[in-house]
Amino acid sequence: MKDAYTFDKDEAGLDVSYQKQFNAYKNIMDRLHLEYRIVRADTGVMGGLLSEEFQALAPLGEDILVLCDDCGLSSNIEVCAAKPELASVEDTLEELTLVETPNSRTIEEVVDFLHRDVKKFVKTLIYNIDGTPVAVMVRGDRDVNEVKLRKLYGAANVELADPETVVKVTNADIGFAGPVGIGCELIMDEEVSHMYNFVTGANKTGYHYTGVNQRDFTAAKVADLRNIQDGDICPVCGGRVHFAHGIEVGNTFKLGTKYAKALDLQYLDSNNQLQYVWMGSYGIGPARAMAALAEQNVDENGINWPKDLAPYQVAIVIISMKDEQQVAIANKLHDELQAAGIEVILDDREERPGVKFKDMELIGIPYRITVGRGVKDGKVELKPRIGESVEVSIEDAVNEVKKLF
Ligand SMILES: [Zn+2]
Repeated sequence: MKDAYTFDKDEAGLDVSYQKQFNAYKNIMDRLHLEYRIVRADTGVMGGLLSEEFQALAPLGEDILVLCDDCGLSSNIEVCAAKPELASVEDTLEELTLVETPNSRTIEEVVDFLHRDVKKFVKTLIYNIDGTPVAVMVRGDRDVNEVKLRKLYGAANVELADPETVVKVTNADIGFAGPVGIGCELIMDEEVSHMYNFVTGANKTGYHYTGVNQRDFTAAKVADLRNIQDGDICPVCGGRVHFAHGIEVGNTFKLGTKYAKALDLQYLDSNNQLQYVWMGSYGIGPARAMAALAEQNVDENGINWPKDLAPYQVAIVIISMKDEQQVAIANKLHDELQAAGIEVILDDREERPGVKFKDMELIGIPYRITVGRGVKDGKVELKPRIGESVEVSIEDAVNEVKKLF
C-alpha cells in the first residue's frame, strides 16, 4: 500500500484535507485509465466517520458494488440499505401447523418438498454476536448482511454460531431452526415483518411450521438486516439497482479523533487548551491497480497497457539483423526518441519478425516502429498495438511519435 495521513486541528480542516486527497486520488485513477467507481463503504476495522473506496470494475473482483443508473447510487453491498419487498396482504391468517419434512434441511430442499414459493419461507440463522447467540430471520431467498448486524449491536465480532450452539438453542439438529419457541434472542429483517402465513423451521428435528405469523413469536428487534439483491428497488430513488464486481484499488477514510484519542495526540489551541487532532487516512494499492488494469486491458495477444503506464512507450523492431542499413537506422531512431524523452526499447534479437511482433504485443508496448525493407525508400512503419500501421518517412518518424504523446 501507498499510505498517506492528514492531521488537522478540527473537523472543518479534516474536510478540506480529505477533499484534496480525494481529488488527487481521482486524478490518479483517471490518468491510469482505469474503469472505476467510487463507492460508499463500511469503515470496518479502521473505524471513523466516512469511508469511500475506489473500485476498479472487473468480473473477477471480490467486492460487490450496487449501482443505480437512475440516481447514480454507488455503494458497496456491505453498507447498501435494502428496501423491503411488500408481500400482498392476506385476509385470513392460517393456523400454525407442524408438518413433517423428513430429510429437508436446506431452504431448497424444503421449498421442493412443500411446493411453495421461496418468498413464502423465512430462514432463521443463529449468529454468535460477541459471544451471545442471536437468531436472525430473513426471507428464504435473502442473505443476512453481517456488517448491518454488527452495527445494530455495536458488536466487535459477528459470526455464524457453531453447530453445538445451534443444537442447544433450537433443541434440534442443524437445519430446523425457527422463531417459534427458540431459546435465544430473536430479531427479524424488516421485510419479514410484512409477511403472512409463512414457513419456518419448527425447532424440532424433521419438522417445519406452516402458517407462521407474527402472533406466534416475539422479535426483540426489527431492522434492515439483509443484503440488497441484483434487481431490487433502489433505496434512494425507487428505481432498480444492478450489481457489478470490483477490485478495491484505493480508499479514503475520515478517521476523526479515534486514533488521536487512542494515542493521546493533542495540540494547544489559541486559548491554550489541549485539543485532539482530526485525522484522515488514504491508501492506494499499486499492485492491485496494476492487476486491475491488466484485467481490464487484456486481449488474446497480451496486455494493452495505457500509454502512460506501459513499461516502454515505443518498441523498435528490426526485421533483418543482417541488413546493416536497417540496424543503423533502427539505432539512430532509438537514440533520437530517447533524447526526445520517449521510453523506447530496441528489439535487435536474432529472431523471426513474427516472434518479435508477438513479444512486443504480449508485453503491451503501445506503439511499434518496424524497420524493414522500406528503409531503401526512406520509409518505416508506425503501428499502434491495436490498429492499422502507417508508413512514415524516416525523417518524420520521431515527430510522428512525439505527437502521440
Ligand atoms: Zn436509484
